[in-house]
This record gives sequence, C-alpha cells and structure tokens, in this order.
Amino acid sequence: MKLMTCKWCEYSFDLHSQEKKNAEGYANECPDCVDERGGDQSAPRYLGVAAGNGKMSDITILQFESEEQREMYAKAHRNNSGYNKGKSCQLGGHLTSMSGMKFQKVAENFANDNHKGKG
Ligand SMILES: [Zn+2]
Repeated sequence: MKLMTCKWCEYSFDLHSQEKKNAEGYANECPDCVDERGGDQSAPRYLGVAAGNGKMSDITILQFESEEQREMYAKAHRNNSGYNKGKSCQLGGHLTSMSGMKFQKVAENFANDNHKGKG
C-alpha cells in the first residue's frame, strides 16, 4: 500500500490498489480523476460531472476558462457531494461555494431513449 495525494482533488488514494491499476493515469492522479478526465491527458479543460445517484448515465460536461477553474469546480463538486468525507459530514457546514466560477455547460447527456431513432 502506498498512499498518494491526488494532484486534482487532493484525495489520498492507494497507488497500488486495483482501482488505480484499472484506471491507470499518472501516479499522482486518483482513479476517480483519471476517470473524470476520460483517461485523455490532452483534453484538460473538460470535466464530466456524474450525478450522484448511482447511475453512470447522467453526465454533464462543463467547459472552463482555465485549468484552475476546472480544478476549483472539481474540488467544490466533490466537497459538496461529500465524496471524500465521512457519512456524518453530509449535513454539516462543509459546502464549498460554487458561485463565481466561470464555466459554461457545453453538453448534457441525460440518457434519453432517442438513440434508436434516425430522426
Ligand atoms: Zn483525484
């Protein structure tokens, strides 16, 4: 076991875990961030935000003005979702402000059932 701190979300993860091996990516990126970045290191300014409802189908793609903004949003999103916190923290005053961040929604996929049709 070797704990690393993710450079994107500052989450501590086990570099030798199966999850990390599956996700690949750099040694200082946690599996979640590798996934969120689509495993493509050349597309840094897009962030897929998966809805926290257990489904993998509702994805919002956001475009940010800069890598910095993207990271801020990613951190806030995780913080607000209680992603890195214990169960008891969900109701506390731990929400990070997501206001004032510059991004635009470029695509949204709510898994509609139109994919069979051709128009
Ligand atoms: Zn991460």
